[in-house]
Amino acid sequence: MSIQRASNFSAECICKKVRLEIIGLNPNFTVCHCSTCQYLHAGPGFGASCNDIKILDGEEHIKKFFTKIDKKRTQRFLAEHGIAQIEEPDIPEYFSVWHFCAECGTKLYYRFEDSVWKNKCDQYVASVGFLHESGLKNLKMETEAYFDKKPYYYSFKEKTTALSEDETHKKYIRMSKVFDADSNNDGD
Ligand SMILES: [Zn+2]
Ligand SMILES: [Zn+2]
Repeated sequence: MSIQRASNFSAECICKKVRLEIIGLNPNFTVCHCSTCQYLHAGPGFGASCNDIKILDGEEHIKKFFTKIDKKRTQRFLAEHGIAQIEEPDIPEYFSVWHFCAECGTKLYYRFEDSVWKNKCDQYVASVGFLHESGLKNLKMETEAYFDKKPYYYSFKEKTTALSEDETHKKYIRMSKVFDADSNNDGD
């Protein structure tokens, strides 16, 4: 089933030094409860996947943060699920690259590392919070990722598909050749 993606539009950080073009945004977004998001957002991360993001202004103000992959943990996950053994050098160094404005701290977007993510259409993920003045009318909280990692002190009333950590990994991540055989993405 193909998703109606938004027309391209531009969005700015709060200090307006950075302006981005958001290309092919999927309005059905995901809330992520993982530990990295809790640190970065002071709460869960609201992310809408996009085909691409282009920096229109203020590239010099963008700081990047590389989220490192825990190789030992990844190997354990693959072994526990009987998927395959994978050697350390075949595991990528990082999972995604966060881009944020160094002046005002707005979390702009992240991009998944090439060899990690299954679906190329969704490799860029824009923070939903800074899109709220873009005029988009059809944003919808569709999925909650790492639901079993959600802190106890909040919950959302929206009806979502809640994915556990394992289910999140199985749905989205392609680790080298290992997950290719298991590819069942929606093909949007
Ligand atoms: Zn800014
Ligand atoms: Zn997260």
